[in-house]
Amino acid sequence: MTKVGRPKSANPRSLTIPEVRVTREEYRMFKLKAAQYASDSTAKLIRNAIKAYKTVIEEACQCGTMMKESKGTEQYKFQLDEIEHYITITNIPVYQCPECDLEERNLFLFATLEEIIEEEVDWRVKNRLPLPTEIDFNDLVQAKELTYNT
Ligand SMILES: [Zn+2]
Repeated sequence: MTKVGRPKSANPRSLTIPEVRVTREEYRMFKLKAAQYASDSTAKLIRNAIKAYKTVIEEACQCGTMMKESKGTEQYKFQLDEIEHYITITNIPVYQCPECDLEERNLFLFATLEEIIEEEVDWRVKNRLPLPTEIDFNDLVQAKELTYNT
């Protein structure tokens, strides 16, 4: 007898987004928008909303000039079986002052990136997959599957 159900996915939805407390009005808005835009699927609405979300952050430098979004790079170091391994993340959004060249980094973003890279390394080691040496921030934020040929 064959097994009934969905075929096993190569990239299963194995994680859960935390529960969020909302007001009755926010709950109604959530249900209505899911019905209107996402075939009544609240999961689909959340996925689509995350993909579509973007905003402009207005940040002033110490000198008073408005900062402009720029791209930064960060290198993470890992020690695996006494071998040092480096992963460089490129195209990380940072803010730069056009007047005095001061660069400001979003600490929440960099802390979350570090968490994500650690999880990726753990997952790759567990699944005996090669470690990447460079990851584009845009691939992470656009939920692209990180595939590497070595
Ligand atoms: Zn400045």
